[in-house]
Amino acid sequence: MSPRAPRKEAPTPSRAGTTKTAAPKATPTKASATAASTKAAAAKTGSTRASSTKASTPKASSAKAGARTGRRAGKGRSGPSSSDLLGVLVLVVTGSLAACGWIRNQDGGSDAPTSGPATTAPAGAQVTIRFLDVGQGDAILIRSPEGKTALIDGGRSAERLSDQLEKYGVTRLDLMIATHADADHIAGLVPAAALKPRLFINNGMGGTTQTWERLVKALQGVDATFTKASNQTVNLGSVKLRVIAPPPGMPDDQNLNSVGLAVQFGEFRALLTGDSESPETEGWMAQERADLRGPFQVYKSIHHGAANGDTVGWLASVRPQNVVISVGQNSYGHPTDSALRLYRQSGARVYRTDRQGTVTFQGRADGTYTADTDR
Ligand SMILES: [Zn+2]
Repeated sequence: MSPRAPRKEAPTPSRAGTTKTAAPKATPTKASATAASTKAAAAKTGSTRASSTKASTPKASSAKAGARTGRRAGKGRSGPSSSDLLGVLVLVVTGSLAACGWIRNQDGGSDAPTSGPATTAPAGAQVTIRFLDVGQGDAILIRSPEGKTALIDGGRSAERLSDQLEKYGVTRLDLMIATHADADHIAGLVPAAALKPRLFINNGMGGTTQTWERLVKALQGVDATFTKASNQTVNLGSVKLRVIAPPPGMPDDQNLNSVGLAVQFGEFRALLTGDSESPETEGWMAQERADLRGPFQVYKSIHHGAANGDTVGWLASVRPQNVVISVGQNSYGHPTDSALRLYRQSGARVYRTDRQGTVTFQGRADGTYTADTDR
């Protein structure tokens, strides 16, 4: 399951699905403070994050890997372990990263980072977002104009994810995010850990599967920093990644604690929200966050087009121009007719990785973009 040696060159995608579109007019504004406001100071000093970071302690016990429901969230074990100690370490290093500018809280981003990537993109620069064809599951690769890379989830097949990383010449990762700990999101992250992401962000709930245990071990092996999602901003070169923490009050459930990510490169915006279900998206809408308000040029269908994902209200808020359904052969009926109908009614162009293979968007700072599909 180890990754192969990646090739240098990225393939030229077929132009079959290419479109070029103008930017939507509405632009994101400075994010509203909401629940994060009190955390901003803490993020800068790294002094008071203990309670919010505690939950990022990886938990693992059950041998039942691979079940998709993900209703098991870090239960069934007591007493400290090396994983718990890791959770404490996370706290310390998170503070350090915040201090050096790699991570900034959502309303604490006035100063340029003192270390880490540049914030100004060269003229004509593009951010590349690939919805990788990994079968059933999510795996999204983001590359900044400066060549910085982030992998958001890894699908359920380590082999297919490795193939995709090789195909696109990914030789290292700067950031890895697990939206939640279900197998169809994290199994592929295990081999990807060999590409040495500096930072790993998750929902803080850990998992109870052997797959999760393997992921933690692999990330520990490359000294990745574990961080709980807390509405921080991560600069991926000149691309801003706004991490969307689950809203408060969510029940103990993996899907309902999916980490969201809003990608912003000038006027170009994309939104990914894992397998969040309607209680979570309603919680986000109640926060009236500017970073979740549409339009978005690119949007990932929630939960592979499940019936309990996207809603009329949420899509009216997100206002997607393009919806990508990350889906493969499955027995769940994904994508459902009801989800497909919603996307049609929203007026968005719909892409499916099971039919079109990897779907790639290249966005420019003026908000224009191209879309390509494998087939
Ligand atoms: Zn899923």
